Amino acid sequence: KPIVAVVGRPNVGKSTLVNRILGRREAVVQDQPGVTRDRVSYDANWNGREFVLVDTGGWMSDAKGMAAAIAEQAELAISMADAVLFVVDATVGTTDEDEAVVRVLRRSKKPVVLAANKVDDQRHEALAATMWNLGLGEPYPVSAMHGRGSGDLLDALLDSIPEAPREQDVEEAGPRRVAIVGKPNVGKSSLLNKLADQQRVVVSDVSGTTVDPVDEIVEVGGQVYRLIDTAGIRRRVKEASGHEYYASLRTQAAIERAEVCIMVVDASEPLTDQDLRILSSIEEAGRALVIAFNKWDLTDEERRRYLEREIERDLVAFRWAPTVNISALTGRNVDKLSKAIEAAAAGWETRISTGKLNAFLGRLAAAHPHPVRGGKQPRILFGTQAQTSPPTFALFTSGQMDATYLRFIERRLREDFGFVGSPVHVEIRARE
Ligand code: GDP
Repeated sequence: KPIVAVVGRPNVGKSTLVNRILGRREAVVQDQPGVTRDRVSYDANWNGREFVLVDTGGWMSDAKGMAAAIAEQAELAISMADAVLFVVDATVGTTDEDEAVVRVLRRSKKPVVLAANKVDDQRHEALAATMWNLGLGEPYPVSAMHGRGSGDLLDALLDSIPEAPREQDVEEAGPRRVAIVGKPNVGKSSLLNKLADQQRVVVSDVSGTTVDPVDEIVEVGGQVYRLIDTAGIRRRVKEASGHEYYASLRTQAAIERAEVCIMVVDASEPLTDQDLRILSSIEEAGRALVIAFNKWDLTDEERRRYLEREIERDLVAFRWAPTVNISALTGRNVDKLSKAIEAAAAGWETRISTGKLNAFLGRLAAAHPHPVRGGKQPRILFGTQAQTSPPTFALFTSGQMDATYLRFIERRLREDFGFVGSPVHVEIRARE
C-alpha cells in the first residue's frame, strides 16, 4: 500500500483533514506540541484504492525554532512516504515555515499535492489561488472542517501515486524486507551493528537494492536481507522532546514497509506495555514476526524463569511467533535469526487450497458447531483463502459469528496448517 504523509505547520488543520479523509473521528484533532501518540498511521481508502495515511502533526520542537523543526518533520515524512500531502492555511497565506517545507519537498522529488485549507466558502477561493506562489503546482482549495473540495484533493493525490509504484516492484524483486523494531535501549542498534559488521554485502552486487539510502543490505546465516530504515535506528534523535513521537512514527513506517519484523525485547528487564503495543502494531499491520529476546547474557536462571512466566501471561496472543534468545553484545545466536525469519516468511506466504480448507472447515463444524444464538445456529457455508501475506480467510456463513468462535477457528487453522510467525486473519461474510 502506498504511504501518504500529511505535512504542514501546526494549526493549519492537518488532523482535521486526516479525519475528513478517513471519514471518522480517529486522529487527534489538535496540533499539540510534544504529544506522544501510539497511532500515527491510518488505513485509508478512496474510490477503492487503499493507502496509508501518516499524520505527522503530533510533534513540534521549540528547541530549534519552528521553521527548522517543520523542515525536519517534512524530511522524515518524505523519507518514508510515496507521496506528500502538504497542507497550508489559505486564510493566513504562505509563511516562512511553509517556505522551509517547500524547500525540503522540492529536493525530495516525491509527488506533492498542495491543500489550501480553511477555504470554507466561495469567497476564500481566491486566497487559495495565491498559493500558486509556492511553486508546487495547483493548490486544491479545501475545507477540512466542512468537507468542501476534499474529493478533488483525493483524486489529485491518488493520481500522483503510480498505480503500481515502480519502486515497490524493485523492492519486491530484491531481498526480503526486514524491520528491526522495539522500544528504545533494547539493543536495536547493537543488533544492527552486529549484523552489518559480520558480513558486509556489496550493495550493487544484489539486484534491486539501489532504491533507498536509509536501508542496509546484510547477510545473516547465508540469507541476504534488506534491513528497513536503518538510518532511523542509527540516527538516535534524542535531544528533542518529540523523540518518542519520532520513534513511534518511524516504527510504524518501518513496519508498513517490512515483510518480516524482528521485535527486539530486553530479556533482562520486565516486559512493558510499550513492547506489547509495538507487537500489536505488527499484528494489526499483518506482518510476519520474529521475537528476539536480547541481552540474554545479562539473564540469570531466576530472571529466565520469571521471563517464562511473563511470556505465558503477556505474550499468549503472540505464541505463533518464533523466538530467538540472543545477545547483540556477544553475538550469541544472532546467526540463528535467519532461520526464524525464513520460517516466519514461509508461514506468512502459506496458501491453503480451497479443497483442503473446506475439508478442514467441514470437520471443524461437525465436531464443534457454532453455539445457537437467538434460536439460530450460524453455519459456515464455504471458505476460501482470500489472501496470503498474511493468510486471510473469508468465510461465507449463514449468520454472524461470535468473536470467540472466530478465534477458535484461527487456533485450529494454526494447529492444522502452521502459519508459524504470521498473523492469521479470519473474516466473515454473513448472509443474513
Ligand atoms: P537501541 O536503542 O534499541 O538501539 O539500543 P542500543 O543498541 O543502543 O543498546 C542500548 C544499550 O544496551 C547499550 O548500552 C548497549 O551496549 C546495550 N546492549 C545492547 N545489546 C546488548 C546485549 O545483548 N547484552 C548486553 N549486556 N548489553 C546490550
